[in-house]
Amino acid sequence: MIISGKELSAQLKAEMAEKVKGFPALYGRVPHLVVILVGEDPGSVSYVKGKAKASAEVGIRNTTIRKPDTISEQELLELIAQLNADDEVDGILVQLPLPKHIDEDKVIAAIDKAKDVDGFHPLNVAALWQKQPCTLPCTPKGIIKMLKAAGVTIEGKRAVVIGRSNIVGLPVSKLLLDENATVTITHSRTRNLAEVTRQAEILVVAIGRPKFVTADMVADGAVVIDVGVNRDPETGKLCGDVDFAAIEPKASVITPVPGGVGPMTICCLMENTIECFLRRRAK
Ligand code: NAP
Repeated sequence: MIISGKELSAQLKAEMAEKVKGFPALYGRVPHLVVILVGEDPGSVSYVKGKAKASAEVGIRNTTIRKPDTISEQELLELIAQLNADDEVDGILVQLPLPKHIDEDKVIAAIDKAKDVDGFHPLNVAALWQKQPCTLPCTPKGIIKMLKAAGVTIEGKRAVVIGRSNIVGLPVSKLLLDENATVTITHSRTRNLAEVTRQAEILVVAIGRPKFVTADMVADGAVVIDVGVNRDPETGKLCGDVDFAAIEPKASVITPVPGGVGPMTICCLMENTIECFLRRRAK
């Protein structure tokens, strides 16, 4: 079974659009997401466009603020302070990566926690690890939604995550743990990686290396979630971290790249924006 993140996200976005339609009557306006794009990195430009397109589909107001990569850290922090103070702004997202002269951690920490739609603010991260209410990071949240939509039972399963980044590997491991999986986190220093991954009933791969996971690393019947977004060096096309063609026949469930985790990430960003909007109104 191939889980189409494209189809699932289309369905979820349509449900959100229906809900948002009623917001002007209920709350006087729709949620407002502000995306800050620094510089011209083609990948970032394309991600920001995708976020604007999804916002339009859901009926969320989207403002993209473009700044040159010469912007100083101080100027960026001042812009964030203005957006924090603006009651008409519900979500603030700073597209990463930022130019080297800007401290990303400082910028993320400057965003009002209540408007942190990415779930990267240190207080949101702390809340996640303490099982407190928080904004969940979009990619891990989308992965859990995909597993549930595919009818995968997570509880009691042996889950292996490859990668331990703050935005994917670590938070998805925590969410799997919260769903009562038995989780192993692996990384570049893991010895005998294939031996560990072959134990996985659920394998989540977030490395950033084209087709790194080969068929011999995956057990028959495993559920395989491929987070990677890479260019295939041979074809130049988008591909994941998993050798899809070789693994699809032996996996019970697998996600494709493109059309898998990526669309779900954007879908969860829309959900987070709506949640931030509603939470601020509930106060
Ligand atoms: P990252 O910050 O570069 O982290 C990569 C992780 O992979 C690190 O923990 C690293 O281990 C581990 N790793 C690298 N080489 C390895 C190896 N040979 N064996 C085992 N582990 C290895 O990357 P990321 O931000 O998590 O992103 C990972 C991939 O997901 C990228 O392709 C990215 O573009 C994609 N991504 C997709 C979405 C989406 O929505 N589809 C969202 C976010 C990211 P160490 O910690 O030991 O260095």
